[in-house]
Amino acid sequence: MRPRRRARPTPKQKIPPVEELYGGGYTGRLMKGEYTGRKDIHAAIQRRHERGMALINAKGYWVQGNRQWRVPYGVREAFSATLSHGHLMNKYPFYVQWRHPDGNGGHKIKRRSCTSLGSAVSFITLHATRADPDAFVVCKLGFYAPVPMLGKFPRRLNDGKLYYWCPRCMQPRRMRQVNPQQTFYADKKYPNDQGGYTWKNVKLALLECTSCGANNRDGKFRASNQPVQKTVIKPRRTSTRRKR
Ligand SMILES: [Zn+2]
Repeated sequence: MRPRRRARPTPKQKIPPVEELYGGGYTGRLMKGEYTGRKDIHAAIQRRHERGMALINAKGYWVQGNRQWRVPYGVREAFSATLSHGHLMNKYPFYVQWRHPDGNGGHKIKRRSCTSLGSAVSFITLHATRADPDAFVVCKLGFYAPVPMLGKFPRRLNDGKLYYWCPRCMQPRRMRQVNPQQTFYADKKYPNDQGGYTWKNVKLALLECTSCGANNRDGKFRASNQPVQKTVIKPRRTSTRRKR
C-alpha cells in the first residue's frame, strides 16, 4: 500500500518591502502579478493606510516637527475608508498639488505622486504649504463621500456659491463647465409623488472640478452628489432568557 501523503503545513509567506511589490504594467507602477492575489499583502497595505491617521490631533491638525496643517474633514474620513482593489494595485494612488512661484511673479502648478495618504499629508505639512497655503491632496481613484455628507450636495455654502462633493479632492469643490457643447446622458434621481425618487435618463452638461479636474461623469462623483433615501431598519426583538 502506498503511504498516505500527509498535508504539509504551508510556510508563512513573508511580506516583501514596498519597493518589491510594484513594477508591473507598462508603466511599472502597478503591483507585480505574483502579489496581486495575496490577501495578507492587501491587509498590510490597508493597515498602513489606517495608521496614517496617527499624526492627526484632536483638533484635526497634522502635527509634524514644528509644522502643522489643518486636514480637511473628507481627508480625515478617508483615512478610515477601505481601499479599493484599484488603490491597492497602484504604487502611487495619491498626489499633492500646489502652486509654486516661478520667480517672475507668477506660478507653476506642481504635482507630486505619493504612495499613501499619510505620506501625502506629511508632504503637504512639511513642504507644499511653504509655497502655497492652499496645497491639497488628491486621490486618483477617489473615495465616495463620507456617509454624513451623502445627499447633502450639491449645496450652497456660506459664500452663496454652489459646491459639489469632489470624490478625488475629498472635499466640497466648485465645478466649471469647460465647453458648453460637451454634454452626456446619465441617470439622475428626481423626487416623485410618493415621497421617493425616480431615476430619469437626462442630458447633462460636462462639469469639471476647478481644482483637480475630476468630472461629473465619474461614478463616485455621481453617487456623492445625488439625493439619498434613508432606510430605517427596526431593531428586531430578541428573546431574553430569564434567570431562575
Ligand atoms: Zn477635485
